[in-house]
Amino acid sequence: MEIQTNEIVSYIKELVHIPSPSGNTEAAIDFMKSFLEKNQVSFKTTNKGAVIATIRGEDDSKHRLLTAHVDTLGAMVKEIKSDGRLKLDLIGGFYWNTIEGEYCSIHTNSGKTFSGTIMMHQTAAHVYKGMNELKRDEKNMVVRVDEEFHSKKDVEEAGISVGDFVSFQPRFEQLDSGFVKSRHLDDKASVAILMYVIKQIKVNSIKLPYTTHFLISNNEEIGYGGNSNIPTDTVEYLAVDMGAIGDGQATDEFTVSICAKDSGGPYHHGLRKHLVDLAEKHDIGYKVDIYPYYGSDATAAIRAGADIVHGLIGPGIDASHAFERTHIKSLKNTTELIHAYLKSPLV
Ligand SMILES: [Zn+2]
Repeated sequence: MEIQTNEIVSYIKELVHIPSPSGNTEAAIDFMKSFLEKNQVSFKTTNKGAVIATIRGEDDSKHRLLTAHVDTLGAMVKEIKSDGRLKLDLIGGFYWNTIEGEYCSIHTNSGKTFSGTIMMHQTAAHVYKGMNELKRDEKNMVVRVDEEFHSKKDVEEAGISVGDFVSFQPRFEQLDSGFVKSRHLDDKASVAILMYVIKQIKVNSIKLPYTTHFLISNNEEIGYGGNSNIPTDTVEYLAVDMGAIGDGQATDEFTVSICAKDSGGPYHHGLRKHLVDLAEKHDIGYKVDIYPYYGSDATAAIRAGADIVHGLIGPGIDASHAFERTHIKSLKNTTELIHAYLKSPLV
């Protein structure tokens, strides 16, 4: 089956433009719900705000679950300064220098959105000497809101308050070279792949061997996205999340990364071998890898006590939790492996 990567990339584009930092993911979940409705896939919403779509298979006694998460990194207004600038608290695991200079949106409780820039307070080169040596941290970095704010009172009167969510501009670009660069490819690239797979199953009336759930989780970046609401008949649980690239890593931007172990320990050996066998059999480009500082929703599920066979695969994402990039080859290989996996027997 020819994979239409353009369709996957267009889903990525739509998804990354919907702000959804962990804790404020309703709009992204609503987007997923309307996608599922459009494709006539039944789904449930959990109290935690996630969506579980279900496609019934030939065997309804043993289930399979795949998950990807729509929540992303983000921030929250921590303090309103006397000069009208905002201090931030970060949501998720990343460093301040990776958001320096980023345009952002502040989402108020009343539903208003303000535009701003995240930067060092002492950015002006004509005023501050040696600012390059200052630490990028919660003390020095602020949001300059694009409004005529002169004081804390001005900000408060506009409706901005402590606890408001802040999202970062994705700066999405699709290039002729096949690269896709954008913030939040972790894990919206995988959500897009699952959307594509779900649509293919429906459009081509593909009969799956087992009832299969697709959990679109919304709290992965803070550690507890897919750790509950796992349907009781679930035997296998495959997290589809980004592969980590860097010095010493096997993962790249062109293959599907199959995770052998991350910070949470080894993934299920039998399932990992099964995934490797499927990749070999179907001529799918893959890399087996270990991620040093990483925990997936599959690990979160195991930690929460779920008795499942757990695995993790995903597209390779360069400069993760920062200036993310991947290639359509990686999207294609990941999609092909998921298709092969869905049609395969349980391990
Ligand atoms: Zn992440």
